Amino acid sequence: MNRETVQNEGSTVSVCGWVNSRRNMGKLAFLDMRDRSGLLQVVLVPAELDDASRALMDEIRPEYCLRITGIVNRRGEKQVNPNLETGSVELLAKEVEILNPSKTPPFELQDTAQVNEEIRLTYRYLDLRTARMIKNLDLRDNVVAFMRNFLRREGFIEVETPVLTKGTPEGSREYLVPSRLHESKFYVLPQSPQQFKQLLMVAGVEKYFQVARCFRDEDQRGDRQPEFTQLDMEMSFVTQEDVLAINERMMVELVKAVAPEKRITQVPFPRISYRDAVDQHGSDKPDMRKDKNDPNELAFCWVVDFPMFEDDGQGGIQAAHHPFCMPHPDDLDLLDTEPLKVRAASYDLVLNGYELSSGSIRIHKHELQNKIFELLGLSAEQIEARFGHMLEAFEYGAPPHGGMAPGVDRLVMILANEPNIREVIAFPKTGDARDLLMGAPSDVEKKRLDEAHIQIKPSKH
Ligand code: ASP
Repeated sequence: MNRETVQNEGSTVSVCGWVNSRRNMGKLAFLDMRDRSGLLQVVLVPAELDDASRALMDEIRPEYCLRITGIVNRRGEKQVNPNLETGSVELLAKEVEILNPSKTPPFELQDTAQVNEEIRLTYRYLDLRTARMIKNLDLRDNVVAFMRNFLRREGFIEVETPVLTKGTPEGSREYLVPSRLHESKFYVLPQSPQQFKQLLMVAGVEKYFQVARCFRDEDQRGDRQPEFTQLDMEMSFVTQEDVLAINERMMVELVKAVAPEKRITQVPFPRISYRDAVDQHGSDKPDMRKDKNDPNELAFCWVVDFPMFEDDGQGGIQAAHHPFCMPHPDDLDLLDTEPLKVRAASYDLVLNGYELSSGSIRIHKHELQNKIFELLGLSAEQIEARFGHMLEAFEYGAPPHGGMAPGVDRLVMILANEPNIREVIAFPKTGDARDLLMGAPSDVEKKRLDEAHIQIKPSKH
């Protein structure tokens, strides 16, 4: 790796990587070679190169993939570049091998802030070569690794749950996957592992987490992605305080470990009820930063006591978060009389005005869960068909449990000071849910549609 050359002054080494830039100085040429660890200056002096390397020296252009063998030399005092990690040395090339040439990239792989995003996404593998993207991928890796280590130290285990499943109603439309083996039946892609993590609590897992992909087929309002990642977690035998405490501790330690330049405005995180947040800040995700221009300020806050239900606009009520939230113990009496006044034992973690995470204590009793479904207007048949498995599971000694699910994309976005989550996802989709690199969604052959028992009904425009 380029970074290691500084410890190898005087030695012959081989480096592999890409030409970041080339400068000619008379007969000499200077290359900035790039690999994941950073840049390294390479000097090409014709007299120092072997014959084959000398012959191809003029061909070398930006983004060529090369292997260069040479001697690591200390740079002269005046040539030291303090902005480069390897700025005290340079590589005097002896042998250059072109591993693969490169076409001229469609955009300069330097500062991409002004580059058209569709081009960046179409050539994402080039975009990911830029320092900005390398930094974001590294930060994301650090964040996820920290979370995994932290939770494993706390006794959680990571369990994978299915991606082909049955609906989890959390307010969004689900992606449908037709079943080939079972005609006219469908799987859906989960909006979150909500039901599975609750079933894992019934199973006795006690402390679960998963770096989980979630899928939501929404009209792409704002900064959303059809698939995104949550640190999904669930615990048994806990109160709301326990869930908030472990998540708060994780966030504080995570910031210290992966983004030490950031300052958290207030610890313990301030707490505010949903009602007060809306009344006092006009938002259920208040931005509590003291200085909105400070890129290193992180203002976390908890918003608690969300309403259990909201008006569905059609004379009925719908779950404000999801139907598995436990009603606030003080409000159980209101369920039959004034359901819209019932608070839930549910909470959000808000960061700089973004909803980072939602969670709740869950219902673990059959009767109460059934009642909530009824209040949501489901018939006995609908309840049985959609949620019979949950209700039945609750009849086998389901423990009290609760959890939450911090959004990984959004957290990394804020830590990276990026303007949207696409910048911290390796292969994101556009605002209208297209993958420009792969060209998805795409047509499929008639034969495959037939196998899946699907007939396309052209839409009337
Ligand atoms: N499944 C919920 C969500 O995706 C989070 C939770 O309640 O744990 O928002």
